[in-house]
Amino acid sequence: MKDKTLVMIPGPTPVSRPIQEEMGREIQAFGDPRFVADYKSVIDDLGQLFGCDGKTFVIAGTGTLAMEMAISNVTKRGDSILVVSHGYFGDRFTDICMHKGLDVDVLSAEWGQIVPVEVIRAKLASKKYAAMTVSHVDTATGVCAPIAEIGEMMKEFPETIYILDGVAATAGEYANLAEMNIDLMFTASQKAFGVCPGLFLLWANQKVLARRAELGMIPEYYVDFEKWIPIMDDPSKYFATPAINLVWALKESVRQIKEEGLRARYDRHVKNARAMQKALEALGFRILAVPEHRAVTLSNLVYPEGLNDAEFRAALLDEGIIVAGGLAAYAGRMFRLGHMGNIDINDEVTALGVIERALNRCGVKVEYGKAVGIYMDEMTR
Ligand SMILES: *Cc1c(COP(=O)(O)O)cnc(C)c1O
Repeated sequence: MKDKTLVMIPGPTPVSRPIQEEMGREIQAFGDPRFVADYKSVIDDLGQLFGCDGKTFVIAGTGTLAMEMAISNVTKRGDSILVVSHGYFGDRFTDICMHKGLDVDVLSAEWGQIVPVEVIRAKLASKKYAAMTVSHVDTATGVCAPIAEIGEMMKEFPETIYILDGVAATAGEYANLAEMNIDLMFTASQKAFGVCPGLFLLWANQKVLARRAELGMIPEYYVDFEKWIPIMDDPSKYFATPAINLVWALKESVRQIKEEGLRARYDRHVKNARAMQKALEALGFRILAVPEHRAVTLSNLVYPEGLNDAEFRAALLDEGIIVAGGLAAYAGRMFRLGHMGNIDINDEVTALGVIERALNRCGVKVEYGKAVGIYMDEMTR
């Protein structure tokens, strides 16, 4: 048992065997025509899958670097930017923008709620914003933003770039740049794509590329679109060494996503998440996010009275699963359970069984099989 721990944090998420196997392959040169073809096919598939009419980037780095890349290529020092924050990762954008000398306005929601679209519209109408950022799912709160509705509203503000942080969402939650009027979106390999950490994926539409061209030379080097566009167009060229095995792993993940279908994958996430959430509520946890804006990729579960965070999470680990703790004001009061990507029904039954055991060990008496029963009922409907 000790050497088998199910990873149920909101990233990294479990990596399926066929994806793992790509990580173990013998290295090839980045200029090897076989690797060049593989890299190119991943880039092209990703662009098509997510409705991008500009450029798709697959680069070594984490989601945070993608956030920095997004901001760096559409704003210059002194520009105004609007940050719509639904939690910790929304706030990270504020920090990045301050470092870059931008004039930052922030709209924050109480944790668990969203900033209403009307409030965003009024703010955007109040001055000229170069860009606006929204987190699709904020991992700290488990809130899912109404991205399509926001995209529709953004048609009134064609000069503002709509940046979507899809890091804990993309390929679990549904998103499409063309359908939803999103200008720039990014994610990282270790979340709903179910690949090891180390790559980020970024989609930039034509409107974004036009903005980049207007900016001329930018202070950043590694994240400059202009350095990477020639490589994304023709990966046999060199700018900085690609993460070869990770690209292969991502290619396998994309193959699986195409086989399942992006919509079907989302439907699977919805069904699973709602069943998990119902089962967990029955055990006495409160879901932080309001019902209308609950993510399908993770759940943020506020503890029932009398449950000690450290003790509970230690019991979970001892019983074989690892989850994440709450952040900021919810540290010690909540745990976060990732259920995105390659997680399947058997993993979930295991997780719920472990949660039932851990609760009983911590003195919160629950009937064995209760959550598992509710979950199975929902899943086999
Ligand atoms: C995880 C996460 C990030 C940061 O990604 P890293 O790969 O850890 O740098 C950014 N935004 C959201 C919403 C996330 O969940």
